[in-house]
Formats: sequence, structure tokens, C-alpha cells
Amino acid sequence: MSRKISILGATGSIGQNTIDLIRRDPAGYDVVALTGAGNIAQLAEDAIALRADVAVTARENLLDDLRDALAGSGVEAAAGAEAITEAATRPTDWVMSAIVGAAGLAPGLAALQQGGTLALANKESLVCAGALMLGEAKRHGATILPVDSEHSAVFQALVGEDMAAVERIIITASGGAFRDWPLEDLPNATLDQASSHPNWDMGQRITIDSASMFNKAMEVIETREFFGVSPESIEVLVHPQSMIHALVGFCDGGLMAHVGPPDMRLAIGYALHHPQRAHLPVERLDLARIGQLDFTAPDDARWPALRLAREVMAAGGLMGAVFNAAKEVALDGFIAGQLCFTQMAEIVEEVLDARAEEAAQGRGRDAMTLDLVAQADHLARKAAKAAIQKRAG
Ligand code: NAD
Ligand code: MG
Repeated sequence: MSRKISILGATGSIGQNTIDLIRRDPAGYDVVALTGAGNIAQLAEDAIALRADVAVTARENLLDDLRDALAGSGVEAAAGAEAITEAATRPTDWVMSAIVGAAGLAPGLAALQQGGTLALANKESLVCAGALMLGEAKRHGATILPVDSEHSAVFQALVGEDMAAVERIIITASGGAFRDWPLEDLPNATLDQASSHPNWDMGQRITIDSASMFNKAMEVIETREFFGVSPESIEVLVHPQSMIHALVGFCDGGLMAHVGPPDMRLAIGYALHHPQRAHLPVERLDLARIGQLDFTAPDDARWPALRLAREVMAAGGLMGAVFNAAKEVALDGFIAGQLCFTQMAEIVEEVLDARAEEAAQGRGRDAMTLDLVAQADHLARKAAKAAIQKRAG
């Protein structure tokens, strides 16, 4: 029997890896919705090949282009943020949430509210609104499966275990593009240099976030939210080879590590076939040939984002939404050439300080709503833009 699935963010790196797996078993899946943004040709090509019911672009001004590209195929075309959220509510068994940024929150939440399974790559959802996501999943009997490689690794290491026996969770970080750079060179890092990752082939935004460790900072918060563990029990370990994705430490001193090639199809495939395992077309590691795996402690001076994540977790409330929004705007600023690489963390810290009081209000986890998150996001974006302007002027 085929399973009904939708892919939010189908044209991106995670979306395309998901489609790669789906395509290997065409009879296994009945594709409902695919969504994208600017890459209309890719969206239309995949929607036609996978016989999707509907293809949606985030850009309203591209609706006619999408209609033209889909002409005669029988695939419905739609555009805009609301249309994406509407598509996410169409009945399915499994939805991949792989839009980049806070834009992924509302559609992912809408999908969850249908009570199926949400494979969650969009870590921003948990950083901005973890309590809301988990609360709604519970209320609607939905399942969230992690797709971020570290969280998939932790999830797998926890199968059959009792959370009460978990002492610590260690997520690894490759260290990104600038792990070995002299600190004084970091302000001069260019966009091109920050956009290439030593191990993983990912979207540009998450690649730059890996170089700054904002990605890992987000993942620490994601770990706290998803697994419900205390901030103190979460550790980051720099591991340049990206083969051990995470480790779980138990009360008896034992560690369970998840080891695999740096290929996102492993985590996507695990979420796709869960609770079974299925054959996946990923490299089989030859550890004898690899010979050695390295580990070091993260350097706080190089990666201030990790310290900021601790502050965000200590503050609670809507600080995750503030953090993510400020980070997104600072990243836009770096991409646009308005900020140098190290100024991203400065901007985020400034915004966290400025918004701390308001954002910490409504700390009660039950009080979180999409509107409150959107408001915190909006105000933090405004503050971050002002902070960037101030530097420019
Ligand atoms: P990407 O940039 O390659 O793709 C992003 C997708 O989102 C595209 O389909 C794009 O069309 C869509 N999109 C962009 N802006 C949008 C908007 N405003 N509204 C609706 N759709 C929009 O990104 P990616 O690397 O595939 O990452 C997707 C998500 O998965 C991110 O949250 C990222 O942190 C997470 N993630 C990615 C990887 C990876 O290996 N790429 C690993 C772990 C987690
Ligand atoms: Mg990750």
C-alpha cells in the first residue's frame, strides 16, 4: 500500500535528498504536495514526475510561471505563504518539514495538527516554538521524528532506553569552514569561504551557520526542546570527520554513539521508514581505512554562538524566537555584505540583550501561541535591522 506524503521545501537540499529516496520506490508513495520558492523549474519538474496533487511556490509573483510550467500536467498550482500552510493541511501519512528558517514554522505546525507524522528538518520550529510544537503534537496525536542528523542519531541511540537513565547528550560539530583558521582572520572571512562545508553538502544558509556555529547553537536548543533534557546535560564536541553524529551518556557511564557517513539520506531515510529500517543508498564506512576519529572541545572565543545558546535556554520564554530571528537577519546582513563574519554574533547578542525582558515574559510553556512567537520574531528582526543600520551609518 502506498503512503501519502508531502514535502515542504521540496526544492532545497533536504527536499531533494528526500525526493531521491522516494523516487527509488515510485509505487511506495502517493505524493500530495510539494512546495518551493524561487526555483520554479525544479518544483514543476518534480511535481510532474512524482504526480503530486499540488505544487506551491512561496512567491506570489511566480504563480503564473508555475502555472505555465505545470500546464497540461494535471498538477494544481498555488502560491504564497498561506497556500503553503493550506497544502500542509491536506491529509497525508507523512510530511517532510524542510523549509529553511522561521517560515517553516506555521506550515509544519499545520501539518502536525492533522495528527500524522512530521519528519522535522526545520530546526527553527523547535528553536522558536518548541513548547508549541510538542504541545500540539501531543494534542493531535501526531508524531515528530527528527531529521537533523545529530537528533536522529540521539533518537536512534535512545531506542528501548529509559530517559531517566540518560545523564548527558553529546552532539558533534565538524567545526565548519573556519575550524583551524587563526582567530584574527575570522573578520575577513568571505561569503564564498563561509559557504563551503568540509563534509556536508547543504543549503547555503545552514552551511554559513555551520562555520559560525550558529547551527550548533540552534541544535543545542533543539536537543533541549525535543528530548526534554536540562541545558546542563547537553554537550558539544568538535569532531572534524562528522562520522559520529551524537552520543548518549547513561547513568552507568556507558555511551551509545551513532556512527554513519555524512549523508543526510541516512537521517531522512530513518524518519521515512520508522519504525522499520530499510536499505539506504549511502556509503558503507570502512573504519579500518579511516583509521582515526578526532575530538576536541569547542572554543568559546571562536564560536560565541554556543554561549549565546546557553543564555537563550536560561531565559526561556520567547527568547528562542528572538535568537533565531536575530540570527536570520544577521545572516542576511552577512550575505548582503553589510556585516563581516564575526559581526553576526555581535548583532545577535545585542538583540538578545535588548529584547530580554519582554521575551522572557510569558515563560509558562502553555502560554506560547503562534501569534506571540510571530510578534517576538517581528520585533527581534526590527531590532536586528536597526543594529545593522547603526553600524553602517
Ligand atoms: P535550502 O536552502 O537548500 O532549501 C530551503 C527550502 O525552503 C527550499 O525548498 C526553498 O524553496 C524553501 N524556502 C525558502 N524560503 C522560503 C520561504 N520564505 N517560504 C517557504 N519556503 C521557502 O535549505 P536546506 O539546507 O535544505 O535546509 C532546510 C531545513 O533543514 C533548514 O531548517 C535546515 O536548518 C535544516 N537542515 C538541513 C540540513 C542539510 O543537510 N541541508 C541538515 C540538517 C538540518
Ligand atoms: Mg545537524
